Amino acid sequence: MGTERLNEFELIARYFVPLAAAEKGAFGLSDDAASIALAPGYRMVVTTDTVISGVHFRVSDPPDAVAGKALAVNLSDLAAMGARPRAYTLALTLPQAWNRNELEPWLESFCGRLALDQREAGVDLIGGDTVASPGPLCVTITALGIVRAGAEMRRSAAVPGDLVYVSGTIGDAALGLKFISGELPTLPAEYGKVLVDRYQFPRARIELGQRLVGIARAAADVSDGLVADIGHICAASNVSATIDASRVPLSLPFRAAIDVNPNADLLAVALTGGDDYELVFTASPASVDAIQSLSNDLGTPLTAIGCIDQRFPIGAKPRTRVLDPNGCPMELETQGYQHF
Ligand code: ADP
Ligand code: MG
Repeated sequence: MGTERLNEFELIARYFVPLAAAEKGAFGLSDDAASIALAPGYRMVVTTDTVISGVHFRVSDPPDAVAGKALAVNLSDLAAMGARPRAYTLALTLPQAWNRNELEPWLESFCGRLALDQREAGVDLIGGDTVASPGPLCVTITALGIVRAGAEMRRSAAVPGDLVYVSGTIGDAALGLKFISGELPTLPAEYGKVLVDRYQFPRARIELGQRLVGIARAAADVSDGLVADIGHICAASNVSATIDASRVPLSLPFRAAIDVNPNADLLAVALTGGDDYELVFTASPASVDAIQSLSNDLGTPLTAIGCIDQRFPIGAKPRTRVLDPNGCPMELETQGYQHF
């Protein structure tokens, strides 16, 4: 970095130390690492996710959206485990080419959003790394959560007879990306705005995740795509699932988009588009009432969309069957997003 710029340590002091101020174990970001106490009988849940400019968010997305997404995707993984968020680290790879006039307003907005979101989630920044590279902007967050020992919601816990539930509405983020890319020109702008907001500012189901402990069996968050993520539960649990496409909860803007684009296969977008950060989970039919009252309590729709129907012999390939509104198996081109 040029000498007219803030050096790495000034930059850390100005932008990151304030985000670490409330956590004693962060030592004001002045030491080599942080130290976090754990009460007896509890375990730490750890997850890392990277978001890269041009891959996970649009190059033109504003810094507050980048910050919000980078934190939310990690908090969503904690939610899927039933953990309470505790702290996070931040590894920032900034483009070398940014001059001070670009870097500082960007960091100002980025850290402003982190400050808001970390307060809401009850976490503090406890460390990280700051580097510059010739590559694209890249943000890696590692989130730490706390869970009672043995209470972790695992992908591997689904059993035949379980119902498959999903929270909120599905497909909005994938459709928001289509809208902002100009692919849904006939959708009214006020609907488009809601969908784009879900793409740019995903919200992790933090409270729902913790409240599902003891009610749900298996759980995962919907990041790759609904069918793909149910497939991950099936693979881990060695079971297959049948999903009713007609029961997948769609938002009002999503249904409006279907109405004005009857020929586009938007139902497939809902089933396989990623970035929803809702929770998908399985539960015994005996838990239906508990799930309904949890849904009422949180004001969050929890919708049964299918069931776990068979155990597979070790080594066989578990399947996720999706039935269309007529009850016929759907042929989906993909199940969700894959990097490789
Ligand atoms: P080291 O060389 O010992 O790894 P660094 O010089 O990279 O330490 O960082 C100094 C301190 O600042 C460390 O406590 C580190 O955790 C913290 N830090 C650096 N970058 C960030 C960041 N982007 N967010 C939060 N903390 C950071
Ligand atoms: Mg370092």
